[in-house]
Amino acid sequence: MRFFQTLVLLPLIAGNLAVIARPLEERASLAKCSSERKQMIDDALTKAAKMAQSGADLIRSGSDYSTDLFQSFFKTDDDQAKTRVAGVLEKIATEALAGDNGVVNYYCTPEGINCIDDHSFIMTAYGETDGTYGRIRTCPAYFTKFPQWSDVCTVLDQATSSLHEMAHTKGIFGPETYGYNAVHLLNSTAALENAESYAFFSKSAFLNCTVSK
Ligand SMILES: [Zn+2]
Repeated sequence: MRFFQTLVLLPLIAGNLAVIARPLEERASLAKCSSERKQMIDDALTKAAKMAQSGADLIRSGSDYSTDLFQSFFKTDDDQAKTRVAGVLEKIATEALAGDNGVVNYYCTPEGINCIDDHSFIMTAYGETDGTYGRIRTCPAYFTKFPQWSDVCTVLDQATSSLHEMAHTKGIFGPETYGYNAVHLLNSTAALENAESYAFFSKSAFLNCTVSK
């Protein structure tokens, strides 16, 4: 029996795109996806795995850049904190590449969640966790109002969003702070429990982004 300790969500400021619905198909760990949306999630997870692995590898490199980037997001150079973040990112990378062999059930659909979408607040996805297993449910906005990928360090795209949700399934479920700039303002304790911090740290490591102070 899986016990989900928390329910978390991810808002996004809107853009405007249209998408055409396709017939549904199902598989074990990626469920209720049209072929188009299955491809989008597959691509997002492939990129999320690369970003998470980049984050873990960077931390373990011990380079000056690693120390500076970690400090900018997590406000500490404590070895235990680094080991924890690297371990979580490693689990995310493994899960994101596991496909049908993974332990997270990833739905392209909201599965009963009321997806709020107005001018100021847009729900894009929910991640649930018990620290290992989990379920990710996706609101339509994820597919229609995110870019699939952006090379801009500060931009939230589908891949970075999926990494965020995967962090929830691996036990990161503290109070949520969203956005590249906002997560830099968190103290160490808050950042270490904030999924968005893991997501943007990984993206920065992957893209070799300039360290924000
Ligand atoms: Zn979240």
